[in-house]
Amino acid sequence: MKDARPNFPLPLSSVTSGVRKPGTPAPFATPQTATRNAASSHGGARAPQAPAPAPRAPGYVQVANSAPAAQRSDLAATEAVRRAMVARVARQGVSDPKVLMAMETVPRHLFIEPALYGQAYVDASLPIGHNQTISQPYIVARMIEAMNASRPAGATLGKVLEIGTGCGYQAAVLSFVAKDVYSIERIKPLHELAKTNLRPLRLSNLRLQYGDGMLGLPQVAPFDGIILAAAGLEVPRALLEQLAIGAHLVAPVGAQVQHLHRITRTGKSEWTSETLEACHFVPLRPGTI
Ligand code: SAH
Repeated sequence: MKDARPNFPLPLSSVTSGVRKPGTPAPFATPQTATRNAASSHGGARAPQAPAPAPRAPGYVQVANSAPAAQRSDLAATEAVRRAMVARVARQGVSDPKVLMAMETVPRHLFIEPALYGQAYVDASLPIGHNQTISQPYIVARMIEAMNASRPAGATLGKVLEIGTGCGYQAAVLSFVAKDVYSIERIKPLHELAKTNLRPLRLSNLRLQYGDGMLGLPQVAPFDGIILAAAGLEVPRALLEQLAIGAHLVAPVGAQVQHLHRITRTGKSEWTSETLEACHFVPLRPGTI
């Protein structure tokens, strides 16, 4: 099937890899706070800071045993901070082991600019350029868990679609949770940035597409899960139509006030919707730039 579509998607070989528990505070992934997060070198009561990071070029998997000692210790320190990030996400109510494992595997610092490495593992959104942000770790985990919900234990999600690749972080996390991941970005330089960021990870099941995600990918549908990383006033009809029956779509909906919604396709022309929690995402916009 992959080979039958010559111009889509970009194989990553070519870019070479439930409802939150009551009582837990509603976290916000706010693009508005991203600049503030970037400016502040202290995370307040947040997680430990990432160490002076390993060089950006080598990927997590590749560095392993052949790296010089100093690089290995940087890597070990980065892994420790990442484990602390995952432990915090679990305390915030995410319990899906697959999601937590994926978060522990993907080196978030590789997706942000080196000047912000020190904040790579704090629970905050951060700027990635073009007025966009990398999402807060908690919300990334929460959305994937919500999309993966009500599946038999151990069952792997099949084909999933992400709208809003940004720097590629959530797509990378998804690639450890689903068999096949497709991710669309409308801003060309961010699509290119994601390719660069993802290349060292060699995630052969992840495909990136430059385009308007509001149209989805009808040539690849139906999807066993869809995630929107940008907020619209409503969920585009095309995406609802591209959801497999029984599958979940998770999306922020709203403008100033936004909530995370989970929509489940229950029949050919039937969908149900649940409101999960407050959130704040960058806007979903039509067209490409
Ligand atoms: N998934 C990212 C979050 C990126 S921010 C992460 O891992 O952190 C949301 C992204 O959605 C932005 O890059 C923005 O350009 C993109 N976006 C907004 N509207 C879109 C659309 N119609 N199609 C594709 N991408 C869109």
